[in-house]
Amino acid sequence: MARVATLSERVQAAHLVHRADASCSAGAFALEYMRTERAELLRFSDRPYLLDILDDDAPEHVCVACAQSGKTVTYLSKILWRLAFPQGRPSRTAIYTFPTEGDVQQFSAARAKRMIRASPFLSERIGDLDNVSIKQLSNGSTVYFKGTWTDRAAISVPADIRVHDELDRSKPDTLQIYSDRLRNSDDPRTYLFSTPTIPGFGISREWERSDQREWMWECWECGRDQIFAPMDGSVPWVANLDMETRQWRCQFCGWAIEHENVMAGRWVAQAPQNAGVSGYHITGIMPPYSGADRLLGERDKANSSGAEELWLQGHIGLPAVAAEGRITPDMIRFGDWPNAEVSDKPTYAGLDQGRKLDFIAGDGGGRIVAVHRYDDWSQVAAAMQAFKVSLLVADSSPDARPVQELIARFPGRVMLADYSLQAVTDDHPWARQGGVPRVRLQRTAVLDMARQAIIMGADGGDVFPRLPLEQERVLVGQLCASVRTIEQNAAGIQKAVWRETADDHFRHAHAYYVVASRMGTRFPPIPDFMRGPLSSSQAVDPRTGEVQTVTPRTVEELQMPDGVVGPDGQPAQEVRYPKLPAWHRQGP
Ligand SMILES: [Zn+2]
Repeated sequence: MARVATLSERVQAAHLVHRADASCSAGAFALEYMRTERAELLRFSDRPYLLDILDDDAPEHVCVACAQSGKTVTYLSKILWRLAFPQGRPSRTAIYTFPTEGDVQQFSAARAKRMIRASPFLSERIGDLDNVSIKQLSNGSTVYFKGTWTDRAAISVPADIRVHDELDRSKPDTLQIYSDRLRNSDDPRTYLFSTPTIPGFGISREWERSDQREWMWECWECGRDQIFAPMDGSVPWVANLDMETRQWRCQFCGWAIEHENVMAGRWVAQAPQNAGVSGYHITGIMPPYSGADRLLGERDKANSSGAEELWLQGHIGLPAVAAEGRITPDMIRFGDWPNAEVSDKPTYAGLDQGRKLDFIAGDGGGRIVAVHRYDDWSQVAAAMQAFKVSLLVADSSPDARPVQELIARFPGRVMLADYSLQAVTDDHPWARQGGVPRVRLQRTAVLDMARQAIIMGADGGDVFPRLPLEQERVLVGQLCASVRTIEQNAAGIQKAVWRETADDHFRHAHAYYVVASRMGTRFPPIPDFMRGPLSSSQAVDPRTGEVQTVTPRTVEELQMPDGVVGPDGQPAQEVRYPKLPAWHRQGP
């Protein structure tokens, strides 16, 4: 059978080419001058796919990779080569980001430092500037290592190369700032790589504009080309992974596949029309240690903690999200009432600040009466009156001042909200701050609660008003734009978060509305008959018109008269009321 060059043939050929001139490519440079942190030569014999990535000098790279794929060392080699060669050219600057300062410490102080010290070439050329966050070569070229989630300002130097490692865990606003730093470079380079998280978010979104290279190999038994777990989902990962015998198999003939067979493959662009942005997808079948048995063992572990998506992301290299982590258009219900401009009954409302002021008002009982986008705060003030808003929960950022003005104008009816609550300690995901009109929200739990209101629709959830087609499209798009996923921090602690894959202002406006309505109905207005002095008084049953004598007592001593039912319709004697109940006399 005709085979593509075998692994050792390929690597030997690469060495021969590279030996000619170690400055001619990043691959040659890595083979010649780079060292591992254990002072060993970098070897690509069991990872030839990395050598191709090194030698690809496209101005932009997007690399979607499973964990521990070798991507960090690959791109470090690439930028060091570009900083060191060609000799005699003006110095270059690279900005290399990790998600957090802790990640920078771990990488720069522990790994990079040892790797540089182990390389005679590099240790000779590292100048006086050599610390955790800056390394300068003797030719003046510099690499800055920075975290993205830091209060310290982004560095303001112009740069030629930007590298974002673990893009999906990085802070998008900071990355945006750094993309502007390359504006004046005569030869800019952008290298983005990450373990994927959510489809359509971060690295998975960048992938869409790349030429989308997948690693294709030919089965040595049946001769058919195949790709393991491609990004486009056209082949499910189980096609190559035999769950019973826990082995890699050919997806066509079922032959047991060895690592050498996979490594004899090649990169094949799935979207060659996007030339100039090289996309690489490193999957779980490619790293040399990736035994199928080990991989499935990790899956068992992930499943036992209910987070299979983490395994798909980290071990297979596929963006993934659990079904319960989505809102899809078919889940959103619309009623037959128009999008109101006024309301004759009191309402609750939520407001999100973005480019517009996105406003949602409803009756707190399932009917959303209004969905509006306002341009300025005077419109919000007018809406407070037009919709008789009894409680507005309003996003406090970026600008809290206009919300404070609303609070002054409508005392008791407006609350500032932010997502600063870390954990849910009470039975609801918010915490009032004593004495001030501010509520702190636990982001994930509030967005979970609001999703529940959306998916329940007419069955106890929220139904939206009839909207013109374009407005409906915007609302649906934004409600569906956040996706729930599990993230794992460096300490291995997993937590659920909602990530936005596009603008999601109405999703938050709705979440604030849900909080407003729950807070409002949790502490309903005191009925008239309970106002006044705390002594016996008379009240009229609003339903029957009967006059009754009401004597306030504490809940413990309260004996319900016969026939009084609780909110659940059961006789009141059997109900332990945590608060004074709404009273109804049972009808005849
Ligand atoms: Zn086969």
